[in-house]
Amino acid sequence: MPAQITHWLFFNEVKEILQNTHPLYKEDKSDPGWLFLASQGGDVFYHNQHSMPSGVSYGALMHRRDGDSFLMNLAKQIGQSHPLFWLAFMTHAILDQEGHPYVVYFSTAVNPTGSMRKKWYQMHPFFERIMDRLWFEQRTGQSLFAHWQEGKGFDLNSLPERTILDALGLALELTYGEKVRQPDRSLRIHNAYRDTIGFLQYSDPSRRDNALWAAQRDQEDGEQGGRNRLALFHPVGDLDAYDFLNQNHQKWQHPVSGEPVYDSWEDIYDRAKERVLKAGAILADSLQGHNSLEALKDIITSRTWNVGDLDGKSHSPVFTKPFPLPDILKQEYSILDGKQ
Ligand SMILES: [Zn+2]
Repeated sequence: MPAQITHWLFFNEVKEILQNTHPLYKEDKSDPGWLFLASQGGDVFYHNQHSMPSGVSYGALMHRRDGDSFLMNLAKQIGQSHPLFWLAFMTHAILDQEGHPYVVYFSTAVNPTGSMRKKWYQMHPFFERIMDRLWFEQRTGQSLFAHWQEGKGFDLNSLPERTILDALGLALELTYGEKVRQPDRSLRIHNAYRDTIGFLQYSDPSRRDNALWAAQRDQEDGEQGGRNRLALFHPVGDLDAYDFLNQNHQKWQHPVSGEPVYDSWEDIYDRAKERVLKAGAILADSLQGHNSLEALKDIITSRTWNVGDLDGKSHSPVFTKPFPLPDILKQEYSILDGKQ
C-alpha cells in the first residue's frame, strides 16, 4: 500500500472517469470525508490503536485472505445506496495488491536483529510517505505541503453513517464467520473509524507542530527508544538523491518469488487503474440489471492485499533491497532541529 494521499488521488482519478461513463456514480452524494475514509480501505482497522475494543484484527484478516469475497459481500450490502463508498474501498484493495510488492522490496530489511530492528522500525510507512509526497507532486504539479497549508487537503468532519458501518460488519461476518461474530463488533468498527480520523488529523501534512512533537519525543527516547514516531509524517527534506518512483525502470525483484521486475511506480499505478475501472463498471452495470456481480471476482481476484506467493497467498518477503531510509529519516530530524 502507498500512503493515504496516493490512495485518495487514485480513487478520485477513477471516480472522475466512472462518473462520466456511469451516471449512477454521479448520483451518490456521499460526504467527501466519508469517501476519503473509504479510500483508506481496510487500513482504518490498522489505525485502531487507541480506542477499545479494537477492530485491528479485521484489518489483518481482510488484507491476508478472502478480500474478494469480502468486497463482493460489501457490494451486495451497500452497492445500491453508496456505490462510491464501495468503489473507494475497492480501489484501495487493488492498489494494495499491485503496489505492495514494490513498497516491500524498497523498504524492508529482511529479519533485522538487535539495533537494526529498531533502526528499520516503521520504515515501510515512512517509504510510503516519501512516495506519497513525490507522487502527489508529480501527478498534480503542486507542492504537497503548500496544498495542505492552503487548506485544500482532506476534510474529515464525521464518521460514515451508521448504515455503512453496519454493512461493513455484515460483510465481515458473511466472509469470515465465527472470527468476527463478536457482540461488540459495531463498536470495534466505530472505534476504528474514530481512531483513523484522529490519526489522519494528527499526521496531516500541514501539522508541522505535531511532526516537531514527534521528533522531540523520539530524541528524548534516544537510541534505546526505537519508536520512530517521525516516520509517520511526510518528509520535508530534499528527496532528489534517489529514484524512489523508479522512473528509470531499474531492475528490482518480486519480494517473494524473486522474479525480476522493471516496473516504475507509474506502471504499477496505471495497471491497478485499469483493473478498478473494470470492477467499477461491473458494479454499475449489475446495479442496472445488465450483468451479474459475479464477474467482479475475476477482476478483484483472491490474491492477498499484502505481499503474496505465486498462488496469491500472504508470504513474508525474502528478496528486498531497501533504500537507506533510516538515513533519510535522520535528515528529517536535523531539519526539524534547525541544523539544516
Ligand atoms: Zn491497505
